[in-house]
Amino acid sequence: MKVLVIGGGAREHALCRSLSQDSAVTELYCAPGNAGIAQVATVHPVDQLDGAQVAALARRLDADLVVVGPEAPLVAGVSDAVRAAGIPVFGPSGKAAQLEGSKAFAKDVMAAAGVPTARSYVCATPAEAAEALDAFGAPYVVKDDGLAAGKGVVVTSDREAALAHAASCERVVIEEYLDGPEVSLFAITDGTTVLPLQPAQDFKRALDGDEGPNTGGMGAYSPLPWAPEGLVEEVLETVLQPTVDELRRRGTEFSGLLYAGLALTSRGTRVIEFNARFGDPETQVVLARLRTPLAAVLHASATGALDQLEPLRWDDGAAVTVVIASEGYPAAPRTGDVIEGLADAEAADGTAFVLHAGTRADEDGRVLSAGGRVLSVTATGTDLAEARGRAYAAVDRISLKGGQHRTDIALKAAR
Ligand code: AMP
Repeated sequence: MKVLVIGGGAREHALCRSLSQDSAVTELYCAPGNAGIAQVATVHPVDQLDGAQVAALARRLDADLVVVGPEAPLVAGVSDAVRAAGIPVFGPSGKAAQLEGSKAFAKDVMAAAGVPTARSYVCATPAEAAEALDAFGAPYVVKDDGLAAGKGVVVTSDREAALAHAASCERVVIEEYLDGPEVSLFAITDGTTVLPLQPAQDFKRALDGDEGPNTGGMGAYSPLPWAPEGLVEEVLETVLQPTVDELRRRGTEFSGLLYAGLALTSRGTRVIEFNARFGDPETQVVLARLRTPLAAVLHASATGALDQLEPLRWDDGAAVTVVIASEGYPAAPRTGDVIEGLADAEAADGTAFVLHAGTRADEDGRVLSAGGRVLSVTATGTDLAEARGRAYAAVDRISLKGGQHRTDIALKAAR
């Protein structure tokens, strides 16, 4: 199978790494990729938001499968263009990706499907926003209706700050605050059959102790030893399957990866948000534990054949990933700094490896930071404590001027 992956972050590096280890994959391409991905796949430049360009590249490479990683190309309809060219694609249509692209659309689908989520109002004016804030009380949750790369949500007890965020967005969803720990559960679907993966937890805040601003994600781990038994089955039955069925009923069939961001509240499991693609950095730890070769699973999603797949096989151990971000991330990341120690950080037995997020190689072959999140240092082990120890040992061998990382990823869960 010749596979083309679209995107250039650590999620795509994780996907490419797994695909490169799959003997069914004869050629692996990534566009645009990054310096790390270039070590396992042939990279091609592309405007990843341009469906015609992506489809033309896939045709030129004679790809048997295109895997669209990030949300922006999905919402822009890149999958539709590839599908129209007759090439199987892993990733929902632009219309179905509205499940992530519009919080209001997601709320509407959940209401119709009876999926448990926070009560909410869609507000278009300051007066409506003020009324909704007062209806729920503090802490306030204000979400930009559109795509905002993980930065569109403000959770605050400061009513003025909540109002200011609402005023800065065209349309917002204001909802009740959900307490309780968060879980990310991914499922692969072909529009009918839904195959849940293993749950993971990510760390959204920039600083230790969940302090500081929201980010795209500073680390993740899997499995969740504290999660209630039967969680995956419950979420499949009450969230994932009804959502996929409702979208099919509307004629907006969703295939690809359905990501449920969940809060395990005192009143039961609630959906915080849906995403239409693999989460970053949870993908790094989920794929590190997946034993089933990846290509056939993604291809079955793309071709409506998931019901014919054997059950997925998982490693019983654990995986932890720690994100190294640039100085100034998330507000004003500094780029262009040299990264050293990458080879030293990797374990010869594959138990620790470095996935690149925002990196590029310069003319001298040095690897430079090229984005806010720079690296996703990942390790596996028999349990979380071992995986965590290996991940942080690897982090310690890497140097990036001004680089920052959290020191408490998976700490509580590993105890
Ligand atoms: P989202 O982009 O919707 O995942 O929101 C980003 C983060 O904001 C989530 O991971 C939560 O930590 C927090 N958040 C979102 N919605 C709520 C809510 N209704 N109650 C409490 N926290 C929330």
